[in-house]
Parts: sequence; C-alpha cells; structure tokens
Amino acid sequence: MKAHSQTTLRDRVSLSGVGVHSGAACAVTLLPADPDTGIVFLKSVDFLKSVDDAAVDIEVAAIHGNVVATTQCTVLGSKDAGTIATIEHLMAAFGGLGIDNAVVELSGDEVPVMDGSSEAFVEAIRQVGVRRQSARRRYIRVVKPVRVEIGDSVGELLPSDNRVFEVEIDFADTIIGRQAYVYDAEEGDFGQDIARARTFGFMADVEKFWAKGLALGASLENTVAIGDDQVINPEGLRFADEFVRHKVLDAIGDLMLAGAPILGHFRSYRGGHKLNSAVVKALLADRSAWEWSSIPARREATQADVGAMLPAAALGPNVT
Ligand SMILES: [Zn+2]
Repeated sequence: MKAHSQTTLRDRVSLSGVGVHSGAACAVTLLPADPDTGIVFLKSVDFLKSVDDAAVDIEVAAIHGNVVATTQCTVLGSKDAGTIATIEHLMAAFGGLGIDNAVVELSGDEVPVMDGSSEAFVEAIRQVGVRRQSARRRYIRVVKPVRVEIGDSVGELLPSDNRVFEVEIDFADTIIGRQAYVYDAEEGDFGQDIARARTFGFMADVEKFWAKGLALGASLENTVAIGDDQVINPEGLRFADEFVRHKVLDAIGDLMLAGAPILGHFRSYRGGHKLNSAVVKALLADRSAWEWSSIPARREATQADVGAMLPAAALGPNVT
C-alpha cells in the first residue's frame, strides 16, 4: 500500500447509460466527500420528486448491512430509499483505485451498466483525479481465517499483509470451463488487468431472466453473451480469461462493502455476489477474526526504520 492516507475525487464527474436489469436510462454523478464518509449513495431529490412532492435527498451507505439482494447483482436498499441496484462495478472501481470517500448521486434505482465492466468508472475517476486527504486510512486486517460454504461454492479470507483476490470458476460449458486468477492489489494494475473485464451470461438464460423482469437492459453492448459453442459478441473477448477476471472485479467491489479495505487474502471457488457478501458478513460477525490497522505490518518498516533497527538487532542477546 503506497498511500496510507484516505482519498477522494478532485472534482465531480457524471456518467449516463442504461440499467442492465431495469433497462431504464439512468445517470450517476460521483462527488468528492469528507474523510471517513466512505462510499455513500444518494438518490437525489429531483428524481424522488417525480414520485413524491415532499421528497428529500436520501442517503444509503455502501456497507454490507444495507445489502438487500445479491441474486443477479448487488443491491443496496433502505425503507426510505427503496433499492439501488448493480452497484458492484462502480464499487470495484473505487476499490481498485483506492478511493475511500465519495458520494454517488443517482437519477434512478440502478447504477448504469456502461459496457459491463468498470472501465468507464475508472476513466471518469482518472479524468477528475484523486485527492489525498489528511485522515489516515484504516484497514480491516484479517487475523484469523474465515470460511463460508454455500452449496458447492467456497469463499474464505485468510490473514495476509497484502490485499489479494484469488478466484477460481468452474463452469460445465467448454467456453468458460475452469479458470483461475490471482490479483494482488499491491502489484497488479487494476485499470489494465481487471477493470476492462465485462460481465457475461448464457444466451440460454436470457429468456428466463426476461420472463422474470431481469436483465431487461442486457445487450451485446454490455454483456459477453455465450451461445452453444461460442461467444456471440462480434468483437470477441478482451482477455482469454475475461470471465474469471470479471469475477475478480466483482469480488473487489463486493468486499468494499466491509466499509473499509480488507487487508487479507480472499479466495473463492465457484463464487458470486451472494458468496462474496456472505464472506464479508462472516468476517465482521466474528470480532476475533479482524482488527483495525492503519498500516500493513510488513510496510511499517521503512528504509529509515530498517537502518535504525540494525543496532537493536545486534544487541539482541542482551534483550531479556
Ligand atoms: Zn459483475
């Protein structure tokens, strides 16, 4: 971790598109926020007034306690705000770029899907720039392994000095099949390696989703569609293992819902939003499994510190 101070955006930036589930046009504006705000979604009064004259801005913090659904995408909600769907790719952009504080103002019930990846959000954030803040960042350091099994999906968090995401998927079809990817947030390049990986779906499932009123906005513009024995999108894949890279992207976004960056090694096998969310919940529910930390332990010794420590090491035998 190079930066131990909290960060936010330098300026506000807006994006618009469609909701992949609602099919409705929607816009989102990312705004700078004070230290210790975290990521907060805000349904603007202008949007709410279309249904209620007395409406006021309603905020929903992007934390796991406010997650109300994880079936097709990660959905936040509250009694007053209703639901805010498909937050995960935007949350991944915040997590991948190390943004601690931002307000996300929405003009609808869903974050626009853009191209099905985090790329547009990353570009928007880079366009306005990232500002360091005076407050120190606090990490949730995993100190004891936590494991969750849901059916044949397995997720766990293990102690580690780095933020590592190790994801394996195993589909019966031959297009995806078995893929594994390890992303180390310290050494990897989120923008290059992860942010561009798009969401995907099987053509055979699309009609089932539509019948349920889901994926109404899904198209080849925002989803990698898998047919019987090929990828349908004419442009093909962005990476040979784009599917598992996208699962890493989803995990980065979903783990942000802990409310602070998790310092630990996340592993998942056949996972998804439901498993990711359950792992975060299981970690935070076990108070002996984590602790607050302002700096990763391995990084505490800077070059200068190492020099200063040498005489002490030489005096080691005298230490009682
Ligand atoms: Zn996704």
